Amino acid sequence: MTITSFHPTPRTLMGPGPSDVSPRVLEALSRPTIGHLDPEFVKMMDEVKSLLKYAFKTENELTIAVSAPGSAGMETCFVNLVEPGEKVIVCVNGVFGGRMVENVERLGATAVVVEDTWGEPVSIDKVNQAFEQHPDAKFLAFVHAETSTGALSDAKTLCQLAQANDALTIVDAVTSLGGVELRVDEWGIDAIYSGSQKCLSCVPGISPVSFGPRAVEKLKQRNGKVPSWFLDQTLVMSYWSGEGKRSYHHTAPVNSLYALHESLVMLQQEGLENAWARHQAQHEALKEGLTELGIEFIVDEAHRLPQLNTVVIPEGVDDAAVRSTLLNEFNLEIGAGLGALAGKAWRIGLMGYAARRENVALCLAALKSALK
Ligand SMILES: *Cc1c(COP(=O)(O)O)cnc(C)c1O
Repeated sequence: MTITSFHPTPRTLMGPGPSDVSPRVLEALSRPTIGHLDPEFVKMMDEVKSLLKYAFKTENELTIAVSAPGSAGMETCFVNLVEPGEKVIVCVNGVFGGRMVENVERLGATAVVVEDTWGEPVSIDKVNQAFEQHPDAKFLAFVHAETSTGALSDAKTLCQLAQANDALTIVDAVTSLGGVELRVDEWGIDAIYSGSQKCLSCVPGISPVSFGPRAVEKLKQRNGKVPSWFLDQTLVMSYWSGEGKRSYHHTAPVNSLYALHESLVMLQQEGLENAWARHQAQHEALKEGLTELGIEFIVDEAHRLPQLNTVVIPEGVDDAAVRSTLLNEFNLEIGAGLGALAGKAWRIGLMGYAARRENVALCLAALKSALK
């Protein structure tokens, strides 16, 4: 057998990620690869930093893109900040909160788990109680936008609670960045990570992270070395901090960073607040159409993510058959339910470049046809 070039069928990606990548981003990927210490590349990396600060609404100096997917961004935050024996209050209301617990335990720290039902936001009352019972907790970790359920948590109030209890916050914004309101400095978020492939319309594999002044101080005061060499921010900092000092740490994914740069330029051209509003408007349009089809949402309207719509699979409908019809006949991907929601729900993503009127129309028409 002769293996030839791989040419995937173009799909419309309306699942939990990766989401549709903008043609502008794909074009940026194919630009000539240059050296990762080339002055032109260094200048572009500085621009990526500025653009990320814009997207996160932060002035944090330590705002960079980790050369690995969102899961590595998660690990970057935990591995740099949390030390053995420390207590971390971790909110679990879906798959990704569960992974935060894994991160904490693998570092030899203690996770105080605050659990909420899948589909519900993190309970402020329960977090309050956890702080009362564990006044020695050093961190509060939570997922802003739970992609496994479609629930949005109140990051602003959770951060206020953490500050009142002298704890640092570690926030998962993989699905929220660029899709819903997020204000790192105003809300006092200490450490945050995201992903390139959700609401930023970029290819997978890069994780924007940002560390605030309190987090940087905690990192500097560590007792021992950061247990991961690759993710150690004290080493990466000098790689990202330009001004002629840049030295080799690892080879940056050069073309993927062109892609991230392009996607962030697009975000800035649209305007962050306009991007939030676009996700909301497309969500409203989708909701209207789904309601006409008799399809119901899992998450309460007040906590619903516009960019990730978790809906109940109607009675008697074959989950896998509908999804394969959508894929094979309409080249449309929607997401299956995860964990507790497997077989019970679909996850329809409207993330980044996928949050467009034509996608909503295609999804509704395809679902209508497949359900017949
Ligand atoms: C997708 C996602 C991740 C993991 O990102 P990867 O790029 O797949 O590693 C983490 N947290 C949330 C909330 C996500 O949606």
